[in-house]
Amino acid sequence: MRSMILKPKRGKSLQNRHPWVFSGAIARMDDAPEPGETIDVLDSDGRWLARGAFSPQSQIRVRVWSFDPAIIIDAGFFHTRLNQALSLRREVLAGADTDALRLVNAESDGLPGLIVDRYENWVVCQFLSAGSDRWKPAIVACLAELIPDLAGIYERSDVDVRKKEGLPMAAGRLWGQEPPDQVEIRENGCLYRVNVKKGHKTGFYLDQRDNRACVAAYARGAAMLNCFAYTGGFAVAALKAGAAHVTNVDSSAAVLKLARANVALNRLEETRVDDITADVFSLLRRYRAEGRAFDMIVLDPPKFVKSKGDLMRASRGYKEINRLAFELLHPGGTLWTFSCSGLMGRDLFQKIVADAALDAGRQAVILRWLSQALDHPTALNFPEGSYLKGLVCRVD
Ligand code: SAH
Repeated sequence: MRSMILKPKRGKSLQNRHPWVFSGAIARMDDAPEPGETIDVLDSDGRWLARGAFSPQSQIRVRVWSFDPAIIIDAGFFHTRLNQALSLRREVLAGADTDALRLVNAESDGLPGLIVDRYENWVVCQFLSAGSDRWKPAIVACLAELIPDLAGIYERSDVDVRKKEGLPMAAGRLWGQEPPDQVEIRENGCLYRVNVKKGHKTGFYLDQRDNRACVAAYARGAAMLNCFAYTGGFAVAALKAGAAHVTNVDSSAAVLKLARANVALNRLEETRVDDITADVFSLLRRYRAEGRAFDMIVLDPPKFVKSKGDLMRASRGYKEINRLAFELLHPGGTLWTFSCSGLMGRDLFQKIVADAALDAGRQAVILRWLSQALDHPTALNFPEGSYLKGLVCRVD
C-alpha cells in the first residue's frame, strides 16, 4: 500500500482521531496514488497513524477510514460500517413515527464523504469525496443487501463540494427501480411529498425532524410566519397540531408549490395558509412597515457562512432577519431561529440573536436550544459534524 509522510508535529489531529489530513501537513508521498485510493498515513518518524482515502485535488487530502492498522479497507469493511450505522438508527429511532431518515451521516458514522438517506422504500445517496466515490459499487451492493424492502437506490451527487474533490456531478439510478418524481413519506402523523431527484440535499430537511415536532407542540391556535419555508415542513407540522394560520415565505415559487401540495395531502384547509414568493429580508421589512404581528416566527435560512471569510457578512445577515423577526412578534410570542452554518458556533449565534433582540428593543428569554435530529449524530472527534443549531426565544 502506498503511503504519505506528514511533516513534524503534524500528526496530532490524527492521534486525536480527527479524520482529515490537510494538504499543508504533508511532507512527502511514496508515489502518486489514484483519486480515492486507500493509503497509509505515517508521522515524520515513520510511525503508522491512519488508513484513508487519498484525494489529490482537495485541500482535505486524506479522509480516514480507520485508525486501526489491522483493518483492511475492502467490501467487508463497508459492510461492517454500514451495518453499524443502520443499527444505530434502529436503536435511536426505535418507535419513532417516521419512514424517512438519515441512515449514514458521513464522517460521524466512520464513512467520510458518504450520505445515505431513506425515504419510504427508496434510498438516496451522496458520494461527496474521492474515497466514497471510488467505493460506490461496493457501498451500493451492501446497502441493497442490508436494507429490507428496498425499491431502489438513487444518486444525488450533483453538489458543488464534488468539484473540490475533482469529481463530476452525478445523479441517477444506482440500483433497483427509478424512484417516482415525488416519494411520499410519513413523519409524526404528517405526510410529505419529497422530490428526491431535484429537491434540496436529498429532497427533504430530515435534520429538522425533532424541531418540527417541537414547533408543533407550541402551535395550537398560533399565527405563524414560516420564513425560508421550502416544501412546508414546519408549516404542515404546525397546522396539523392546530395552528390557526401559517404564512410560508420562500424565494422559490417551485418549492412553495410543493408546500401547497403538502398542505392538501394532509387534508388541511387551504384558507389556513398563505404562500408568499419573496425575499425574506424585504418581506420582513414590509411587514414591519405594515405593522403586522405573529405569535410564532420560524427563521430557517440556507447556509449563510460558506467559508471563514464569509463570517462577518453572514453575521450581519443573521442579525438583520432576527432583529426584524423580534419586531414582528406579539408579546408572549416565540422566535424559532436556526443556523445550519457549521462555521458559526453556538456562542456566536446566541450573541447575534441577543444583539438582534437588543436592537429591536425586545426583552426575550431562551426557552430551548435545538439541534439536528438523532439520526444525524456527531462523532466526538469530529465537531464539524454539529452544524445545525436553533434557539427558541420568547419575547415579553
Ligand atoms: N425550513 C425548510 C428548509 C429551508 S431551506 C424546511 O424545514 O424544510 C432554505 C430555503 O430558503 C430554500 O427553500 C430557499 O429557496 C430559500 N431561500 C434562500 N434565500 C432566500 C431568501 N433570501 N428569501 C426567501 N427564501 C430564500
